[in-house]
Amino acid sequence: MASAVATTDMEKVVMKARAGFMAGKTRSKEARKRNLEAVVRMINDHTSDMVAAVRKDLNKPSQETTSCETEVAKNEAIEFLRSLDEIMEPEDVNDGSLLLLRKEAFIQRDPYGVCLILGAWNYPLQLTLLPLVGAIAAGNAVVLKPSELSPACAEFLQKTLPKYLDPECFPVVNGSADVAQALLKQRFDHILYTGGCNVAKIIMRAAAENLTPVTLELGGKCPAYIDQTADVKAAGRRITWGKFMNAGQTCIAPDYILCDANLKDKLVSEIKNNLRSFYGDDIKASPDYGRIVNERHFDRIQGMLKQCEKKVVFGGSSDRSQRYIEPTLIDNVSFDDAVMGEEIFGPLLPIFTVRSADEAIRIINSREKPLALYVFSNDKKINKRFLAETSSGNITVNETLVHALANVLPFGGVGNSGMGSYHGKFSIDTFSHKKSCLVDPSPKQSEITMGLRYPPYSPTKEKISGFLMRTASASELKMLKLLKYALLVLIMAFGIKMLGLDTIFH
Ligand code: NAD
Repeated sequence: MASAVATTDMEKVVMKARAGFMAGKTRSKEARKRNLEAVVRMINDHTSDMVAAVRKDLNKPSQETTSCETEVAKNEAIEFLRSLDEIMEPEDVNDGSLLLLRKEAFIQRDPYGVCLILGAWNYPLQLTLLPLVGAIAAGNAVVLKPSELSPACAEFLQKTLPKYLDPECFPVVNGSADVAQALLKQRFDHILYTGGCNVAKIIMRAAAENLTPVTLELGGKCPAYIDQTADVKAAGRRITWGKFMNAGQTCIAPDYILCDANLKDKLVSEIKNNLRSFYGDDIKASPDYGRIVNERHFDRIQGMLKQCEKKVVFGGSSDRSQRYIEPTLIDNVSFDDAVMGEEIFGPLLPIFTVRSADEAIRIINSREKPLALYVFSNDKKINKRFLAETSSGNITVNETLVHALANVLPFGGVGNSGMGSYHGKFSIDTFSHKKSCLVDPSPKQSEITMGLRYPPYSPTKEKISGFLMRTASASELKMLKLLKYALLVLIMAFGIKMLGLDTIFH
């Protein structure tokens, strides 16, 4: 019964957002600018509150929250403010072909309308604010549903966002899965969901009812391959940082390592040293090491660990009362171990040895397509092989995580790791319909040539229209361009003569 009540409430929320969108409150350049500026202001005014909220939910250190959550969203908003004119400019696509002679052909990016953004808990501010900023820049109204598993951040957003953005056009709805499901019963024009695969299927099924397009930002097991040519010191530091930031609860964290057999001992020793130098001898006491989001996830990760306890070569301790799990390295893992079943999403790092890049590629290709794939090698041929022979949301060579902060790159998965992408200009594409527009500014004149298409048909008409419709070769297109210039020059020369201006030059 509770969800039936929520359904009518949600209906009202979405109706108001739609009314705001229809009234043009989010669509114009001025409105988009005003809303983007408001998000920047909110982040500037409340950075310390946001840092405190994320600390409360995940014990995330301030530097990780500012660099991976608040600043990312703020910088994206500032960038959209700079590029708004360009974003809203129609894109001219007339290729000069005969079919489009004397016509205007362009793409106009229309906002979808009312978008639903369902965030996940592991980067609770980034995963709500970053898509929100993209949807605003594209001119949409947004219903924002933060994850209930990061309640301090959800509460911050529900309390603070309405002070900066019109709460009817940008409502924040908090609650658990039943609230999300009540929302999903409503008609949206686009849904962006961040979370796991199983719920993604629920989202897609609900979206199908209204043929609503979806962007699914999911996860999976992200492999990191390292070969003998790699700089083991740099690789070790980057893997340690990318894996254990946020206690391993990062969708693009290296999930497991595929390591050249001769390198394994060196790599393990590097990672151990890095853990000590990052977090000190007493990792539990480090202010820079996070906590598992809740007891359910703590137990899930502990379950995996228990099954391969004997293979632990570093770490393994935990404290349920604090939701603390020590960074843990697991050696000699088999693919049947629980740790290799599902995405770990916690601070356990299994290490496999492989004999060659071939073997690593075979392993990667035999599993679901990962969200991120990391290759550590200084052999260009090897790097090229991974680029060409594997499929993943992204591939990063000799680095970890940084691709997610570079908004010139689309962020999204493929296959089981997701569908669609966003960040930077890709957010504009995600939250807009690319409306194709064709305009004939002078139908009377073009009727002379276009008249051929009308019945009664004849073999001659068919031949000529076939010629006009076919794809022109590159040289024909060049010729056509030259002809256009020649025609322009002739018209100008004729005009000069008619106006008697030619005598000036004598
Ligand atoms: P979660 O539990 O926070 O759920 C995400 C959203 O789905 C929440 O808003 C929640 O209310 C909603 N939800 C939960 N159950 C639902 C249901 N039954 N019906 C409708 N909505 C429901 O997040 P999670 O699933 O624990 O997220 C972890 C996963 O997300 C991992 O697999 C991780 O890799 C992935 N992830 C991906 C990205 C990315 O950008 N690709 C980022 C972060 C996390």
